[in-house]
Amino acid sequence: MSLTKYNEKRNFDDTDEPKGKLGKSKEGLAFVIQKHAASHLHYDFRLEMNGVLKSWAVPKGPSMDPQIKRLAIMVEDHPYSYKDFEGNIPEGNYGAGNVIVWDNGTYIPADDSYNESAENKMKADLNKGHLSFILKGKKLKGEFALVKLKGQQENTWLLIKKEDQYASNEDILKKNKSVISRSTLEALEKKSEKMVTTAIEKKK
Ligand code: MN
Repeated sequence: MSLTKYNEKRNFDDTDEPKGKLGKSKEGLAFVIQKHAASHLHYDFRLEMNGVLKSWAVPKGPSMDPQIKRLAIMVEDHPYSYKDFEGNIPEGNYGAGNVIVWDNGTYIPADDSYNESAENKMKADLNKGHLSFILKGKKLKGEFALVKLKGQQENTWLLIKKEDQYASNEDILKKNKSVISRSTLEALEKKSEKMVTTAIEKKK
């Protein structure tokens, strides 16, 4: 697990995103989903594993409907502290655009018949290309799976809700506020546009 790729892609003089450092939850394993209006709107799904956040970009966002499989593109590991990042990535930077923490919480492996630590169990399953886990989030709850597509590009996975009492066909994405600030992405966008305009005005 390395944060080299993460650090290489970013100029920390120019973005408020955290520098790549390993970190760890005191209790349980963290998960976070960030809603990110980069060149294309997507949801970043991240699972804490061995000091980093394993990360997938989900263009259409998660679904609570087991019939719906969502494409999830594995991207570079993100530092643990990225789970709290919300704000604006300035123009000209990698992933430029606004980010809110759409959901967060903890997760456990769905199958509890393992002897190693939960993290090592997840890491082994990650290498096998099939992760099953239970999310305890504010929006997402219950069992989900991430399944790597065979014969596809190396980084192509599917995010799937499993059948349980939390499965539903309500559109969970309608809950569009940050679980940290209660702000919507649109409200944050307006705020950062205003800040940019003010900064330009001041320079004149
Ligand atoms: Mn992203």
